[in-house]
Amino acid sequence: MSFGLFNKKIDNILPGRVLTDREDLVCYGFDASLRDGIPLAVVKPGDTNDVSKVAAYAFEKNHPIVPRGAGTGMTGGSVPLKNSIILSLEGMNRIIDIDEKNMIACVEPGVINAHLQEQLEEKGLFYPPDPASMKFCTLGGNVAENAGGPRAVKYGVTKDYVLGLETVLPHGRILNTGGKNFKDVVGYDLTRLMVGSEGTLGVITKIFLKVLPLPEEVTTLLCTFSKLDDAARTVSSITSSSIIPSRWMDHMYRFQMTLKRLLLYVHPVTARSVWLKIYIPEIVFGRQGGPYPRPSTI
Ligand SMILES: Cc1cc2nc3c(=O)[nH]c(=O)nc-3n(C[C@H](O)[C@H](O)[C@H](O)COP(=O)(O)OP(=O)(O)OC[C@H]3O[C@@H](n4cnc5c(N)ncnc54)[C@H](O)[C@@H]3O)c2cc1C
Repeated sequence: MSFGLFNKKIDNILPGRVLTDREDLVCYGFDASLRDGIPLAVVKPGDTNDVSKVAAYAFEKNHPIVPRGAGTGMTGGSVPLKNSIILSLEGMNRIIDIDEKNMIACVEPGVINAHLQEQLEEKGLFYPPDPASMKFCTLGGNVAENAGGPRAVKYGVTKDYVLGLETVLPHGRILNTGGKNFKDVVGYDLTRLMVGSEGTLGVITKIFLKVLPLPEEVTTLLCTFSKLDDAARTVSSITSSSIIPSRWMDHMYRFQMTLKRLLLYVHPVTARSVWLKIYIPEIVFGRQGGPYPRPSTI
């Protein structure tokens, strides 16, 4: 099929939702792996039926479909293959429901991780998986990559929170696995199979997530060590004494880097030491009340 005819056909399927200009295609042709490619077209579905229509068409015409969230993946998963269609889920970004009583959130795949966190915090809840890219990456991308983050040691990764999925299979059929109830567990665990499948098995169009109560307070410790070995030994002795910090950070935010540079002039030993940030949940200190601090709080 000629490129012009392809454009016309795909535009007929989802009018106004298809990009084929080269400058648009380039923008959707790479991710954080820094690999790149040029797709045949970028399609921006508005709902599950749109995804299903495009999948059926692509299946019939033998065009690979590459789902894409925010393109922050580091594995090249959203980089287009030859003759492929990029299915950009960024417009499917509704938080469908936050069910406070059952502690479950239902979202579309294009919701940015941090946007869900903000909405949950207002209701005294939180969703633990917090990839460092959380201000940009989508929950669909997180599920497809089984993303973790600094809170993973204490709380686990994305697979530990996905209760159910709606997925459009390659030929367009819509598959529902798991669901809103914790005991939706009959049969093969296809939800687990989809988590981490990097878009190879289908396009995730709806996600049911388990959420937790927001910790009342988190205390942050900043420790400095003269040797890396000492820092590593401290990490193991803290975890082996039954304290699991809610986050470990071994890198510095910009403010702390500046502080380190200033310290070089007044206290070079501390400045050159290894810095480790440890976030201890309130349960260790038995504190009550107080806001949940942003990670930049020392
Ligand atoms: C600065 C930075 C920090 C990062 N920190 C972390 C971290 O702490 N922990 C971590 O785990 N990762 C981290 N990452 C990697 C990346 O952010 C995550 O993998 C994230 O989950 C990708 O989400 P995305 O929306 O950008 O997905 P994309 O990059 O667009 O896609 C990633 C994969 O998911 C597939 N996909 C996307 N949406 C769907 C969908 N709806 N259905 C089916 N498949 C889909 C794509 O085809 C692709 O294979 C980081 C990346 C950067 C750039």
